Amino acid sequence: MADAIVGEKCGKVVIRNVGLMLSGDIDHPILDADTVVVVDGLITAVGKEVDCDIADAKTVVDARRTCLCPGLIDSHVHPVFGDWTPRQSQLGWIESTMHGGVTTMISAGEVHLPGRPKDIVGLKALAITAQRAFDNFRPGGVKVLAGAPVIEKGMVESDFRELAESGVRLLGEVGLGSVKAGEEAATMVAWARKYGIQSTIHTGGPSIPGSGLIDKDVVLEADADIIGHINGGHTALPERDVCELCERSTRAIEIVHNGNERVAIAAARTALELKCPHRVILGTDGPAGSGVQPLGILRMIALLSGLGGIPAEMAFCFATGNTAKIRQLNSGLIEVGRDADFVFMDRAQHTAGRTLLESVALGDIPGVGMVMIDGLVRCGRSRNTPPSTEIPVAATAH
Ligand SMILES: [Zn+2]
Repeated sequence: MADAIVGEKCGKVVIRNVGLMLSGDIDHPILDADTVVVVDGLITAVGKEVDCDIADAKTVVDARRTCLCPGLIDSHVHPVFGDWTPRQSQLGWIESTMHGGVTTMISAGEVHLPGRPKDIVGLKALAITAQRAFDNFRPGGVKVLAGAPVIEKGMVESDFRELAESGVRLLGEVGLGSVKAGEEAATMVAWARKYGIQSTIHTGGPSIPGSGLIDKDVVLEADADIIGHINGGHTALPERDVCELCERSTRAIEIVHNGNERVAIAAARTALELKCPHRVILGTDGPAGSGVQPLGILRMIALLSGLGGIPAEMAFCFATGNTAKIRQLNSGLIEVGRDADFVFMDRAQHTAGRTLLESVALGDIPGVGMVMIDGLVRCGRSRNTPPSTEIPVAATAH
């Protein structure tokens, strides 16, 4: 598959005949609308077809009454370079994940690079290189926000300023490097925040040999912006500690696929009980020892809804608008001015659910019928999901 040309414009795109429009906004997850208009990658109108200017479109997509949802955002991935992961010696995992509805991925550190530098000059150089490389290269069109340095002992405030000035916006998981004490982590997290760099902390037991335990006290003291994989990656903290983190911290509650499923459900339900569902965001934490999961985000949504009893339309918001707001992205919501990143879905063929949302609430994953990034069609019927009952049809004027 061809890789996206960064900066390619889609012209005017009209998406009509949408059967169910999921907004991504957890306060208002379903929109009373059937049409979206896009110009050069940005949404310019959302509403009923009669109220929208649909004339002179370059591309018209007949959604054929399927569901339109903001493209899914994976809040926690470990890319390295290109569409390659050395962890499982696999090629094409990012483009394959696009077939699972993911349009944006956020790096939690390029930690699987063989020979990853751990000296301060080297780790800064790697972060800046990864940020630049993925800014210039989008496998399958997916926006990979990378360049997430793993902090090490000895870093000083000017290192964070220099990283920020060089375009680095993220820290890799705090705790994967030599900084494991709460106080030391808190100092560096505060420096990062001061310069506009967002931080994520590893939570729970070691993921692979060489990583370590980060317990609830360290998570609370470090006060990173994201409580990374609160359900462990894979080994979780005791459930009562996870619930305490939800309660005592105000930071984002990140739940991942490559974590403990039982604790995933407990964390999401605790957030709902605490009346802060807007804090819940989803990731895969892939590639990892568990492999790569092209359908990982859809599987998380089906898990939380099917086993966790969370309404499906709300679970989709965890992976779209919630993540976009917390990560300060211009995607994740269907509203005017946002990036035209979408996944079209329908109930999978032969699911017991009569509608898409009912099928997800029963634990089935939906079929993806099309993915669009910046208003450009990146795939039609997914090669990875169960087949969607109905799929959209795109027609482009020449
Ligand atoms: Zn981790």
